Amino acid sequence: MTAPIVVAGASMAGLRAAEQLRAAGWDGPITLVGDEPHMPYNRPPLSKEVLAGKASFDSLAFRPRASVSDARWRLGTTVVRADLDRRVVALGDGETLAYRGLVVATGMRPRRLRCPGPAGGRHTVRTLDDAQGLREALTRPGVRVVVVGGGFIGCEVAATATALGAAEVTVVDPLPLPMVGPLGDLLAGALLRRHQQRGVRFALGTGVTAFHGDDRVTGVALSDGRVLAADVVVESVGSVANTEWLDGNGLDLSDGVLTDGHLRVGGRPEVIAVGDVARFPNARYDGVPRRVEHWSIPTDTAKHAARVLTAHLTGADAGLAPFAPLPTFWSDQHDFRLQSFGAPALGKGDVRVLDGDLDGDVLVGYHRADRLVGVVALGGQSASAAAARYRAELLKQPAPTA
Ligand SMILES: Cc1cc2nc3c(=O)[nH]c(=O)nc-3n(C[C@H](O)[C@H](O)[C@H](O)COP(=O)(O)OP(=O)(O)OC[C@H]3O[C@@H](n4cnc5c(N)ncnc54)[C@H](O)[C@@H]3O)c2cc1C
Repeated sequence: MTAPIVVAGASMAGLRAAEQLRAAGWDGPITLVGDEPHMPYNRPPLSKEVLAGKASFDSLAFRPRASVSDARWRLGTTVVRADLDRRVVALGDGETLAYRGLVVATGMRPRRLRCPGPAGGRHTVRTLDDAQGLREALTRPGVRVVVVGGGFIGCEVAATATALGAAEVTVVDPLPLPMVGPLGDLLAGALLRRHQQRGVRFALGTGVTAFHGDDRVTGVALSDGRVLAADVVVESVGSVANTEWLDGNGLDLSDGVLTDGHLRVGGRPEVIAVGDVARFPNARYDGVPRRVEHWSIPTDTAKHAARVLTAHLTGADAGLAPFAPLPTFWSDQHDFRLQSFGAPALGKGDVRVLDGDLDGDVLVGYHRADRLVGVVALGGQSASAAAARYRAELLKQPAPTA
């Protein structure tokens, strides 16, 4: 029997990879191995609708395409090791799977704070189980919430906790502004004001040194000497790639899995990486390998990498130009949305308001060497629509050649 293509990680990127392998013409067996007990589901609602109690698991679950109805699903099972020379992976339940092709789709897990103090009352948001546990904690009357980390997820959780009626919500971050890394000072300043106007407090330019309490957290000690009273702490301080199972294969795993410009791993054409875990050079920009944790990336990477892998396994020529996706993200917070196209973080040195004003709906452009490299809208639907109108212009960036 033909060995399968094994997909390690059965979430969005794993599912999309399986579907795209079929679309690219792979009609052999596919086995997906995932350590969560659930079929693939959508993560963005976890910090928004799920916390707010407005989404059930059924509404989050992806509906796999009919083309993968014959795939084998090994859920609740961890891939513990890979031997890329022998082309086998070992599973936590003792099974060993030989593969013809391997898809690395194991994503990220939340980074945790290593401060002294109790573990009780401290949460992260990555999985459905995380979000359900946090919702239960946030809906207790009079709850005081400290969100550590003012990035995407921290800002979204702060907004949802405020809407749920928490007595106090404070975001702590060593940086001077929320989401300043992806947005730059101008827009991050506008974001800060909007959160403050809606009741979120901020302790910026300071870090966490310890958690107070016995079994459960009662307070958060800050490096500026203050102690914030807290019943619930949400740690949203970045993520760590799930790559330990690939150790010992001579790969660059310093930040996710390094790939070439076609998402192949370690010079092995039968191994590809997709989704959050892939660190790939984007031919649209400067070719520097980066990981991109946006919802659009699992689908974009799966489309490209599945064609490359299928062509290799079937002896065909994929005939593809290097991977050059246009990144896009959105983030819903309170009653407004951030909507981005392109790579704003590459143009933070030259930021211009393209439309509207910073206290209302606004569209901001990010430039590098006088070229527009990204846009971000902040506001309502019309701002997002204005951002989308720049998509075509951003796609006109120098096209990579095959
Ligand atoms: C709370 C939250 C909110 C978000 N909101 C937005 C948003 O508003 N907009 C936006 O653009 N993006 C958002 N994102 C990002 C987007 O959801 C991710 O980019 C996307 O889910 C990545 O999918 P993935 O399949 O690559 O990784 P993951 O979804 O992390 O999937 C990896 C899977 O592999 C499993 N796994 C890990 N190690 C192993 C192993 N050794 N063996 C077997 N299985 C393993 C994991 O448990 C997981 O199920 C959000 C993400 C989160 C967590």
